[in-house]
Amino acid sequence: MESIVAGVHEVSGYSRSFIIDGDDGVTLVDTGLPKRDGAIVNVLASIGRSLEDVRAIAITHAHVDHFGTAAVLKQKTDAPLFSSAVDAAAIRGDEATPHPLFLDRLPFLKPVFRLMPGADPVEVDHMVGEGADDALPEGLSVIDTPGHTPGHVSFLLDRAGGVLFVGDAAVATKRGEIKRGFMNRSTPTFDASLRQIAEVEFDVAMFGHSSPLKSSAVGAFRRFVETSL
Ligand SMILES: [Zn+2]
Repeated sequence: MESIVAGVHEVSGYSRSFIIDGDDGVTLVDTGLPKRDGAIVNVLASIGRSLEDVRAIAITHAHVDHFGTAAVLKQKTDAPLFSSAVDAAAIRGDEATPHPLFLDRLPFLKPVFRLMPGADPVEVDHMVGEGADDALPEGLSVIDTPGHTPGHVSFLLDRAGGVLFVGDAAVATKRGEIKRGFMNRSTPTFDASLRQIAEVEFDVAMFGHSSPLKSSAVGAFRRFVETSL
């Protein structure tokens, strides 16, 4: 399995999940839709790892295509789960999953969204917020990027010039340009998160719903902020 940058691997699917291979285990960033554990196991096997090596599961936000397999993985690995405090309520099943912002423009689609497969609720062990957190493995730090969901976070890995796991805070086009994506619309909160990302230093960006930017990724965010916000 070719890694995107040293030790970072992608699990493809409707939404992308990522595996960070470290010195004493692996960290998962997002889990995809429900029943994606087989796909994750296959990628782990391709790098000589198994579920026994999983030591943390980090969730960017409480949409079913990002935490759908979290309950099963937590049960199989006993690894701690990380998310923001705000989105933890939906991940635990205490609140409904927040609907994507584009549905505010297309309210007639809201019943369709409610028909999407549900995720089994799962306990969140560590709630994370802006900045470094010693509980997170691999020196991961957190950037609060609300807007797509109220408690959306992005994770920054201090490796290879900085690898940002953007989640659904933006997507990249095939030409390497940043867009809000179909699921997002311009709101003050959402746009402030894009400005926040543009302040960070990183070279590589991984997205939930587009191909990664493998170099000069922050430059693409800065161009978007300068030209579109
Ligand atoms: Zn989402």
